[in-house]
Amino acid sequence: MPVSYQSTRGDSATTVGFVEALRRGLAPDGGLYVPQEVPSLPADWARSPSFQDLAVRVIVRWLDGAMEADVVEAAVRDALNFPVPVVPLAGAWEGVHVLELFHGPTLSFKDFGARTMSRLMAASLPAGEEVTVMVATSGDTGSAVADGFSGIPGVRVVLLYPDGQVSPTQERQLIVQREGVVALRVDGTFDDCQRMVKGAFADPDLQGVGLSSANSINIGRLLPQSLYYLWASRAVGKAARICVPSGNLGNLTAAVLAHLGGLEVAGIVAAHNANRFFPDYLSGREASFSRSVPTLSNAMDVGAPSNFERLKWLLGRDKLSALVEGATVTDTETLESMKRVYGETGYVADPHTAVGLEAVRRLRTTWGHGTPVVVASTAHPAKFPESVSQAIGRPPDVPDRLAAFWDRPIAVHGISASGDALRAVILKQARE
Ligand SMILES: *Cc1c(COP(=O)(O)O)cnc(C)c1O
Repeated sequence: MPVSYQSTRGDSATTVGFVEALRRGLAPDGGLYVPQEVPSLPADWARSPSFQDLAVRVIVRWLDGAMEADVVEAAVRDALNFPVPVVPLAGAWEGVHVLELFHGPTLSFKDFGARTMSRLMAASLPAGEEVTVMVATSGDTGSAVADGFSGIPGVRVVLLYPDGQVSPTQERQLIVQREGVVALRVDGTFDDCQRMVKGAFADPDLQGVGLSSANSINIGRLLPQSLYYLWASRAVGKAARICVPSGNLGNLTAAVLAHLGGLEVAGIVAAHNANRFFPDYLSGREASFSRSVPTLSNAMDVGAPSNFERLKWLLGRDKLSALVEGATVTDTETLESMKRVYGETGYVADPHTAVGLEAVRRLRTTWGHGTPVVVASTAHPAKFPESVSQAIGRPPDVPDRLAAFWDRPIAVHGISASGDALRAVILKQARE
């Protein structure tokens, strides 16, 4: 049976299939697509010999009836062609495993979703049809999407990022020239960028353009992200606590989807920086969306997490609070965490991963040490040389694939944080 998707704001009778949900990103009523039923995991999923085999088995099941199995298999194998190590820490950190999600081409977990989504979109785009994929990024999504979609026939990309709020290394990865990609440096915050993207969908002048979104609102990104939680659990060998450094809550929603499909977990931790809406909500405190606050873990600087609506739809407040524990970590604690983990284990963590590790260190005193813990390591430390040097007293080692970005030509336009400015760019690009 094919999985049907409905809008978080719609009724259960109005549904679309996977291909439609993938192409639209956001539902016409402004809601997010959610699966009406989560397919259960194939019985033998834990016996998959490699991450890629596991990925194919699970995704083929999700897309059953929506796309041909061999097309899905080719897309998934081409997209997820890099390693996914699960690294155990030692000493005081015994029992804690770092799930390294940064071995793709742009060195963050965003490569999983972006690469898979682009290939599935290319495979399902009717001949002659074109689509403009918009993406608002607070750091890593934009480069993963630009890299994943560049050069794919019929697909253009418009990416928006907030001026001065991404690291120099992240910015470099965003603005290297890529075929079919326009990079926009917006005079505003990440939330402004996200609002502009949502506004473009509602813009009557843009109805003919074939807009899509590659933000974590797109269900096509969440499915591949749910796979690595299965992989980590298989490596650890029993139900683990899973800690997810979070911003827009897409990666956390992916963990929840894996759980709803049958993955046993001992609990899930939502580790946040000073942008603490979700931990406050989970602990029953008065919580409301707000402007984002800049921090060292900038890809998590989100005041209004877009997937919150999806999480609430999937589980509701009571079940969410029972399954997910929240934690907030300050910038000072983030640096201390990087330093502590490096001193105690030799492991170099990036600031986002450090937020997760600090949340675990704090919460472990209440959990006890018997249950394994998996911390999602969302980015490579070399993307944040300033913070890493400050914390551990030496710069991180830089992999060749990151160093190579500095040898490439760049292309970027500065624009104001307005819908008018974005509309002009989209219309111009669509005419070319
Ligand atoms: C995007 C990102 C996050 C936050 O993920 P969400 O799915 O938005 O919660 C965390 N760390 C890094 C490095 C990221 O790029």
